[in-house]
Amino acid sequence: MRGDADSPVILHVPHSATAIPAAVRAGILLGDRALDAELDRITDAHTARLAALAAAQCHSSPWQFVNRLSRLVVDPERFPDEREQMLAVGMGAVYTRTTHGDALRPPDFDPAPLLESYFHPYARAMSEVVADRLAVTGRAVIIDVHSYPTRRLPYELHGDAPRPAICLGVDEFHTPPELTALAESVFADFGERGINTPFVGTYVPLDRYGIDSRVSALMIEIRRDSYMTEPGGVPGPGLERLARALSGLVEALA
Ligand SMILES: [Zn+2]
Repeated sequence: MRGDADSPVILHVPHSATAIPAAVRAGILLGDRALDAELDRITDAHTARLAALAAAQCHSSPWQFVNRLSRLVVDPERFPDEREQMLAVGMGAVYTRTTHGDALRPPDFDPAPLLESYFHPYARAMSEVVADRLAVTGRAVIIDVHSYPTRRLPYELHGDAPRPAICLGVDEFHTPPELTALAESVFADFGERGINTPFVGTYVPLDRYGIDSRVSALMIEIRRDSYMTEPGGVPGPGLERLARALSGLVEALA
């Protein structure tokens, strides 16, 4: 969704949706109940609403880039190739395993058509929004909005790590310390914060990644007990409070 012309801020929401096109659903091995349970575990529920609520409270509206499809179609935040360390647990850009290690797709599944139809167009569209912000405002600030389950899921690579209420994912090249400090202060009322624990890094389009320092980025991973009933339940009053904090961050960046 478009923001104000002079706003450099992009709220990126990759994991909020549950929609799976019928043709893609047909390639998933789970029955309907098991699929619903997996969606409850893996979806960052209500994060699109959180971004929208935050944006509505800003004087200068940020841009919102929201994935309308489930991450079980493709996960736009993974590398589409061997660089992706989550491939080791069947959760590269096209997942072949569930969060519990069960088969999600057949072992000989060819990811290429899904990458072609969904992953690459998404990446191109996000690159275009970033390029447009750079052209108009001279910079781009990507705030990657996620949530994560209070209890560790078996697939997590760093599952033994602390699980603070707010995990800030930072990148050495793209996350200036001031941006991290700002986020620390706006989320100070929500309980403990942690840097890169239990999830690491933040999303930057690959054509800018490690190259263009005008693109700054920060990931916000909100522990789900801060705002919703788990798994897959309704949001509570925490959602409104988080939206106010997030809008404070956006305003400070404008
Ligand atoms: Zn996520």
